[in-house]
Amino acid sequence: MDGSLSESFVAGIREKLLSLRVDLESLTATSDESSQIVELDQSRVGRLSRMDALQAQAMAQASGRRRGIMLRQIAAALARIDRGEYGLCQSCEEPIPQKRLELNPAVALCVQCAEQSEPR
Ligand SMILES: [Zn+2]
Repeated sequence: MDGSLSESFVAGIREKLLSLRVDLESLTATSDESSQIVELDQSRVGRLSRMDALQAQAMAQASGRRRGIMLRQIAAALARIDRGEYGLCQSCEEPIPQKRLELNPAVALCVQCAEQSEPR
């Protein structure tokens, strides 16, 4: 092992990922309830509020999708920790700077590859 990340750093990251996952899962549970409420409401209210309700529901679905992506990234990061590959860019296999990992422990790509994979 010539990894530049210390064992204690990776252990800390692992803790962060696990608590992030708990947070996201509890958020997912609450938002499922609120989108059900939206569906109940729209059968009772007029067309305009129905539009609002649909819009709110679409927004809830979008953030639900984002949470789903985050959860997959977290699961993948935890799997990389288990394989001893954590901290390497999944695209170019260069080590990801420790600062970047601290900001987003689930990050899978180095700065350069992330910029290339996010067309704006
Ligand atoms: Zn890269």
